Amino acid sequence: MSATEEEKQLIFYGAGHYGRLYLDHYADMGITPLCFADANKSIHHTKIKGEKTDTECEILPLSEALERYPRFELVITVVPDSYTDVHKFLVDSGINAERIRTPLPLNRASTPVAVPVSVQPKCPICGADINHRLRASIALFFRVRCRIPQEQTPEAIYCEECEHISFFPYPTDEQLSRYYDGYMDYFFLQERIAFEPNIASLKQTWTNQTSDHWIKRWSLWNEAFPERETFTGHIVDFGSGSSSLLYRIFPNAGKVTPYNIGDRLNLPEALSKCDMLCAMQVLEHIAEPAITLIGLTKHLKEGSMVWVEVPKDYDGELLERWTEIESSITTQCSLITMHEHIQHFSSKSLSALLNRCRVEPLKCFDIPGTKMIAVLGRTI
Ligand SMILES: [Zn+2]
Repeated sequence: MSATEEEKQLIFYGAGHYGRLYLDHYADMGITPLCFADANKSIHHTKIKGEKTDTECEILPLSEALERYPRFELVITVVPDSYTDVHKFLVDSGINAERIRTPLPLNRASTPVAVPVSVQPKCPICGADINHRLRASIALFFRVRCRIPQEQTPEAIYCEECEHISFFPYPTDEQLSRYYDGYMDYFFLQERIAFEPNIASLKQTWTNQTSDHWIKRWSLWNEAFPERETFTGHIVDFGSGSSSLLYRIFPNAGKVTPYNIGDRLNLPEALSKCDMLCAMQVLEHIAEPAITLIGLTKHLKEGSMVWVEVPKDYDGELLERWTEIESSITTQCSLITMHEHIQHFSSKSLSALLNRCRVEPLKCFDIPGTKMIAVLGRTI
């Protein structure tokens, strides 16, 4: 097994006797899989769903493993005599044939063999195949706070179709919730400044309401909402943080409902009654922005406004920049370092995202120098 293969995130298919044997074998090489997967049927009949092996490796039905870890490498242990067509077996087990990238060798020997099956990652925004992948690093503070183990190394992925940059695998929801527990409070900042001293000056920029950052944000809102003073509708502020800005942008709004992940609120009901959904500087922090936004917008009534605002982490041509990075993989660059922005949007990927949500983009804002991209849309 090569060094690159060792770095991949693996799922072991087959949690029976041979699977466990391979688990021990891989453990000797310091490789721990994400989980075991097994046939949905055999889990129910002979194994206990969610059971852990002696080495704390969870066993999941294949369908659930696919749902939980959409981007992974699968190692399948098969007795060749029992499966003459591994490809067909995988397709029958629920893996989309188009995603099986490696031609599967079929070992004619009578002993079980481990066949690595590469699963092609897809763009988390537009769903296109990803052909640009680079080994990524994780910012130390982010790794420490999320408690991401040292051996977990993601890749940065770049989508040529929509110019979106992302990572795989993402931190898990549990790791992310550790990061955002107490986000930006006194202790969070003290700890973060110790790791990343430049945060101290950034923090001043964020709190100083007359800083360039705020002036640019206000000009963006003034341009996007020329009639903001007279807007009297109901707004849901998704990912509002500790205080919603929206009463200041829309001083006569009928109601502003702030929402943060984990809040006890009937979100679908609030969304079905609102006139505008706002997600400001939030989608870059979450693992599955498309799944999240599709889930939110499906509750909106027809004609509701949708405002999505994300930072622009790189000004200029992303493909050009990515090519530069690819040709010099030692370049330290935020686009291939995972920190709290785990999604790097382009104006193209932000519009592609809204298009997947039955939202008609009305206007896109990509103003050079503002370090922000935004789309205003309306549900159809
Ligand atoms: Zn894409």
